[in-house]
Amino acid sequence: MNILVLNCGSSSIKFQFINSDKKEVLAKGIVERIGEESSLFSFISEKIEKRKQKIIVENHTQGIKLISDNLMDSRCGVIQSKDDIDAVGHRLVHGGEEFSGSVRITGRVIDKMRECIKLAPLHNPHNIKGVEASQKILPGVPQCGVFDTAFHQTMPKKAFLYALPLEYYTKHKIRRYGFHGTSHYYVAKEAARYVGKSLDELRIVTCHLGNGASITAIDKGKSVDTSMGFTPLEGLVMGTRCGDLDPAIPLYMIETLGMTRQEVNDVLNKKSGMLGLSEISNDMRVIEEEIEKKNQKASDALEIYVYRLKKYIGAYYAVMDGIDIIVFTGGIGENMPILREMVCNDLTSLGILFDKEKNYIKEDGILDFSDEDSKVKLLKIPTNEELMIAMETEAILKKSEIQNPKQFQSLNVQNYKKNTTKNFRK
Ligand code: ADP
Repeated sequence: MNILVLNCGSSSIKFQFINSDKKEVLAKGIVERIGEESSLFSFISEKIEKRKQKIIVENHTQGIKLISDNLMDSRCGVIQSKDDIDAVGHRLVHGGEEFSGSVRITGRVIDKMRECIKLAPLHNPHNIKGVEASQKILPGVPQCGVFDTAFHQTMPKKAFLYALPLEYYTKHKIRRYGFHGTSHYYVAKEAARYVGKSLDELRIVTCHLGNGASITAIDKGKSVDTSMGFTPLEGLVMGTRCGDLDPAIPLYMIETLGMTRQEVNDVLNKKSGMLGLSEISNDMRVIEEEIEKKNQKASDALEIYVYRLKKYIGAYYAVMDGIDIIVFTGGIGENMPILREMVCNDLTSLGILFDKEKNYIKEDGILDFSDEDSKVKLLKIPTNEELMIAMETEAILKKSEIQNPKQFQSLNVQNYKKNTTKNFRK
């Protein structure tokens, strides 16, 4: 199947056109600065690598038209007509409690996504715009959605409930949702494949360390706890987000420091984390360079980052009564051996022993840097959320076709929930 994977943000659309049978990317790129005076477009296929500046893309519909026209273009394209696009797979951020698996998008699904807007006001409206734009530009092409939160819907109450008065959950749906689910699930599956075991037999901790960062405990293939919470602000130290914090601090900032709600929000989301602590950068490459120059603030920031991560590994060891595999992924997890070394150092009592030399081997694929005597396998695994979305999309379409070839169009949200949850639980 040829699947167009879309990640629609407020002013950008990232895309990959993937052949799911061959697991091959046929074309990819990004439309940026949508709605601004001039937009940017990049398109890479086997035939061409092109970048266009100063084009006008007013909205998501024009953005998706630009992508689809280029896919079919005789010079740079990879297909003849729209008929060669078998499905569109959307990355969707927040599915609330409605979606515990990937879904085929119907009118009812869009209605349910609208209900989740209040949980993700920065993301869901743009995701919906992307879905509606795709329906306009590619009518008749099946659209599927893969939610960042869905994989974590298996968490038990003891992990997802905050100790607030219960009605904040029952009436207002305030609870831990977790994010990066597609990535955590993908690398966990890859880890199981690598060690030649079924996910059902394994206790895996996956560390997704990019600009945003989260860590998940996966017991027998199910997410049982994760560090991001009601929003992606909770948990680990991130590029610019603070992660875990005494909840009284924002109140203190407002009441005693006289900050506005918006200022507090900006500090917690955009000025904290590695950027806030180092006072230099949110980019770990810059932090590493500064540490080499003996910059103390950069060293302290990295130490705090590592310390928080270690605490979570210890916590998830307790949650699952042991760990069989730890996976490092995301821009930082994949490319920063010194960080992996610092995290795995001094964890011998948990059976974690790493091989220092192997950890520094440059390897594009999976890197196993465990010591021979380590009880816990230590793996670096490149994440691939787009491929995962393509595979989920293919699985939904194949399954629905087999189960219900005629009534395919009329499947409702509840049916999807039942049908597709299993996709995540394999
Ligand atoms: P996103 O969360 O935006 O998807 P990525 O997973 O691509 O981000 O991670 C981006 C981050 O990865 C960068 O901000 C940088 O801190 C880090 N990074 C990328 N390459 C390296 C590298 N070679 N060494 C250390 N850190 C890196």
